[in-house]
Amino acid sequence: MKAIRRFTVRPVLPDPLRPLSDLARNLRWSWHAETRDLFQSVDAEAWAAAGGDPVRLLGSVRPARLAELAGDRRFLRRLTAVADDLDDYLTGDRWYQSQSDGLPAAVAYFSPEFGITAALPQYSGGLGILAGDHLKAASDLGVPLIGVGLLYRHGYFRQTLSRDGWQQEHYPVLDPNELPLGQLKEPDGTPAGLSLALPGARALRARIWLARVGRVPLLLLDSDVEENDFGERGVTDRLYGGGSEHRLLQEMLLGIGGVRAVRTYCRLTGHPVPEVFHTNEGHAGFLGLERIAELCDEGLDFDSALEAVRGGTVFTTHTPVPAGIDRFDRELVGRHFGRDAELPGIDVQRILALGMETYPGGEPNLFNMAVMGLRLAQRANGVSLLHGNVSRGMFAGLWPGFDAEEVPITSVTNGVHAPTWVAPEVLRLGARQIGAQRAEDALSVGGSERWDAVADIADQEIWELRRTLREQLVLEVRERLRVSWRQRGAGNAELGWIDGVLDPDVLTIGFARRVPSYKRLTLMLRDRDRLMELLLHPERPVQIVVAGKAHPADDGGKRLVQELVRFTDDPRVRHRIVFLPDYGMAMAQKLYPGCDVWLNNPLRPLEACGTSGMKAALNGCLNLSVLDGWWDEWFQPDFGWAIPTADGAGTDPDHRDDIEAAALYDLLEQRIAPRFYERGRGELPDRWIEMVRQTLSLLGPKVLAGRMVREYVERLYAPAAQAHRALTPDTARDLAEWKARVRGAWPGVSVDHVETTATTATAELGTTVGLRVRVGLGELSPDDVEVQAVSGRVDAEDRITDATVVPLKPTGTPDLEGRLVYEGPLSLDRTGPYGYTVRILPTHPLLASGTELGLVAVPSGDVVEGAGVLLR
Ligand SMILES: *Cc1c(COP(=O)(O)O)cnc(C)c1O
Repeated sequence: MKAIRRFTVRPVLPDPLRPLSDLARNLRWSWHAETRDLFQSVDAEAWAAAGGDPVRLLGSVRPARLAELAGDRRFLRRLTAVADDLDDYLTGDRWYQSQSDGLPAAVAYFSPEFGITAALPQYSGGLGILAGDHLKAASDLGVPLIGVGLLYRHGYFRQTLSRDGWQQEHYPVLDPNELPLGQLKEPDGTPAGLSLALPGARALRARIWLARVGRVPLLLLDSDVEENDFGERGVTDRLYGGGSEHRLLQEMLLGIGGVRAVRTYCRLTGHPVPEVFHTNEGHAGFLGLERIAELCDEGLDFDSALEAVRGGTVFTTHTPVPAGIDRFDRELVGRHFGRDAELPGIDVQRILALGMETYPGGEPNLFNMAVMGLRLAQRANGVSLLHGNVSRGMFAGLWPGFDAEEVPITSVTNGVHAPTWVAPEVLRLGARQIGAQRAEDALSVGGSERWDAVADIADQEIWELRRTLREQLVLEVRERLRVSWRQRGAGNAELGWIDGVLDPDVLTIGFARRVPSYKRLTLMLRDRDRLMELLLHPERPVQIVVAGKAHPADDGGKRLVQELVRFTDDPRVRHRIVFLPDYGMAMAQKLYPGCDVWLNNPLRPLEACGTSGMKAALNGCLNLSVLDGWWDEWFQPDFGWAIPTADGAGTDPDHRDDIEAAALYDLLEQRIAPRFYERGRGELPDRWIEMVRQTLSLLGPKVLAGRMVREYVERLYAPAAQAHRALTPDTARDLAEWKARVRGAWPGVSVDHVETTATTATAELGTTVGLRVRVGLGELSPDDVEVQAVSGRVDAEDRITDATVVPLKPTGTPDLEGRLVYEGPLSLDRTGPYGYTVRILPTHPLLASGTELGLVAVPSGDVVEGAGVLLR
């Protein structure tokens, strides 16, 4: 019979066990093994059945067992110790508290998904897990962050396979009362909520759930409330589902509702009010509009409010794939704002203009969330050096007049939260080596000196650790494979072969990720015969574990999954290659440590960063990857392999796959397998072990989310907080007026005459040449501009490649026609073809960079006197 109503019955814990409830409700347990061990000892069987989720566990333990524990002095002592440890963690000073002043009082971090633990399945892949790792690292460092996201009733889908290998999607219903969440309440006990106005006098209401991620509160908005109409209840139904209106409503709820939720949270708890708002990808970009509306309500005009908001906003872009960027129909966006809808105080045309693709090739009828993100944030970044580069090129059209290198998008390379991703066995080895506290600090705070101790770990210990982890993975794979085959309709009698799947002594390669086409799940199948030879090699076999979900609407991706599954079903190879359905955090935590080699073969440069290889590295797994994302930045032959790419212009995609797959097979056959199987003194693969050691000691300190969050704090949050403080209503108004004045007057700005003291086209190294420039500023004054000499090596097209920029000084006396004269020295400090130019940029103390306005004046044609200079 089906129940007509559902309740969640919460356990009543005997008094002495009360602290268990606090421990269960703070997600720090998800990266704190001691807390998990404690829960496991409550009831090992129930713990396994609860999938390692403390809230679920406490809901299922028998009262008799609880009564027993309440009288168990040893258990209570442990409980007190673990509870005290959490208390210290939550209240003590950490890295942030030891920094100098000027840091933001709080930062609000918005993301459409958060991957914190499998027990809170609110993520689809890398973006969400990065967001989860960001919160955890912020907590470890004591950064006062507030996370903001949505609570999806179905989360992301669970994946199973049909008999013939076609992906099946399931959307289990998540009851928030059974999740590690609490509800944010008003002082009178009623649930705190918020509401957005929708066209047609409708409303979208949401309540606010609160997850505790160590020290960091995470607010999750949920539209499934009774006061909503049916359609609005479904707004937060699932991650990345539905059509574009559904998506728009999700993003409005996240951005606009999210700011309102932050305000409510600060009001109710006294938490410091955020000075900086960070949007993780464009989806949450509407947060800037809500903050503009707040300021307009206080009497500021739109342009001044825009300046004030930009100063305190950081935007991180995550994708170089244009299809990965949200773009909405302009008309759809227009309908959801304005008098009859949200933000009635703001002119809809101003909103629409923010998302306009005002660059060549831009689509006038679309509203681009990344473009809006860049316009609403004074500071922006990509997520690896290479991705920063690609992003500057991709968005260069928004800063016309500047070379792509000068586009104001920097990069902060992603990192991963080591305490979450390092296997307990690895951490224990580290603790034996340098002590538990230092090992914990090495993982969370970083610092390369702490990682140097890896050099002292004996070969034997490293190799035994690797074998243990590999063996655990083999057992895990068999278990998961059996479950999968039962789901695919096989009976136990047919599945005896599963006991022989994978071998704990065979070189193990992992490949797991979402399945968009650029990640090339099936590149390894390019030449099946060759792959089969590698798998079945008599002395040096390899075995491969593959996993990945295709987006539910992506049949192409599902076909790739099927192709791979069918290959793994072949009785000739099924003991050496497996596909595991339902890739997620729980699987990932077992998979990365157990692999010897982590494979990544995206189409360069479409992988913005990639983080799975970092998690693998932290467990001593070696990377084998295309030089894309983070690997392009940090790869060294001492600790991994680069798959050569054929990404030159004009290579036919099919041919490119052939070339890159062949390179992959060659590396595996000629370099990787021989090194893994060769034995030196002591019957150990010395050279392999050395690579493991190098991976840990050289990559370990770099790939940490702690390093990443510190960079965000120092390079983006701190300057954004300064800008936010400097931009009071008055200064914001001044800045807005100044920008308008400069934009209006810019056509009158010109470089009229350039002359040098050089008389010939060659000069000697070390010479200094005088530069004298006459400029016209029209209605602007010298305070509004900077005149710069830009010099450096030039290429065959006379483009300056590695530019040095030096400001020139006004001489004070205008020439006869009233033009200003600027002068400065040009030091010829590099040999070879050398060139210079002169330009004028707007300048103002409140700009983050001279490129901010996208305005520049350069000499036109015939104003240069004196010779170009060539150094010999
Ligand atoms: C780390 C992780 C990802 C992202 O990995 P990429 O290398 O960026 O593709 C995706 N899913 C899960 C479950 C992860 O743990």
